[in-house]
Amino acid sequence: MADKWIDGALLAATTRQEVTAGIRALAAKGRGVHLTAILVGSTPAGELYAQRQGQACEAVGIAYELRTLPADADQETVAGVIQSLNHDPSVTGIMLHLPLPRQLDPTDLQYQIDPVKDVEGVNPANIGYVVYGHTLIAPCTAMAVIELIKSTGVTLRGAEAVVVGASEIAGKPIALLLTEQMATVTLCHIATKDLAAHTRRAEVLVVAVGKPGLITADHVRDGAIVIDVGINRVTSPDGTKKTVGDVDAEAVYPKAARITPVPGGVGPMTVAMLLKNTLRSAELLGTNR
Ligand code: NAP
Repeated sequence: MADKWIDGALLAATTRQEVTAGIRALAAKGRGVHLTAILVGSTPAGELYAQRQGQACEAVGIAYELRTLPADADQETVAGVIQSLNHDPSVTGIMLHLPLPRQLDPTDLQYQIDPVKDVEGVNPANIGYVVYGHTLIAPCTAMAVIELIKSTGVTLRGAEAVVVGASEIAGKPIALLLTEQMATVTLCHIATKDLAAHTRRAEVLVVAVGKPGLITADHVRDGAIVIDVGINRVTSPDGTKKTVGDVDAEAVYPKAARITPVPGGVGPMTVAMLLKNTLRSAELLGTNR
């Protein structure tokens, strides 16, 4: 093996090829794939993210539309747009860009997205379907983590897996999908008493907290697979800004069997999983599910 880094960009490129083939197969049956993203309030960062997302979609053959609503839009207005997209047969996928302006309740709005068109897998109904083993659309970051782990060839069935961070968007769904893979899962959170005692047992360690340097070499078992979900902007001693994860990658690398880099690990795979889910939504719409 050349090195221990798990190449998320390479894996994402393979996923994009698979999605492209799936979209062509649907097109051959006369069916299109159309994702509408809703952006409430226009910021340069939000616009740039949406623009990149649009390019990623179009590169695999997904028609992408961005609906931008004014920053002072109220809950009823945004809900109304979601409902009209739910009922529009030409729209096969819907996503809502976060963060939203403060007057809006994101969970309530995510709840209103038709579960089959919910390409981010954020509707609580979709989490529920995962729990009951009838997955429609799973959350993108959690799917990305599972694909990255599987790419190492490790057997998840029976493996000791430890997840650090318990948010609704990352940690909890990751723990859920690892459980579905029959790993023995420990979910660590802010109230965990001795974090290192748990993480040191992990054959597979997933960290999704948002605190740079939280996981040091002391936290890691020899030969562990380490997946770093964290994305943190930090300033180096020389004043330059860079993006790092939650794992002290330099210190952990010698102990780990495989480890994801930041950037270039979970990030590109999460984008690829959004494309995969968008294809899946369009496929599901043509079935009785
Ligand atoms: P979040 O909503 O802030 O959740 C962080 C979780 O970690 C919370 O459950 C928090 O608990 C817990 N936590 C805080 N300090 C902890 C500690 N010392 N030990 C154990 N748990 C602790 O953040 P998120 O949305 O899950 O995102 C986490 C990180 O992943 C961020 O850096 C984010 O940018 C990144 N992320 C990356 C991707 C990707 O595609 N690569 C996708 C999603 C998120 P409390 O809430 O109780 O403090």
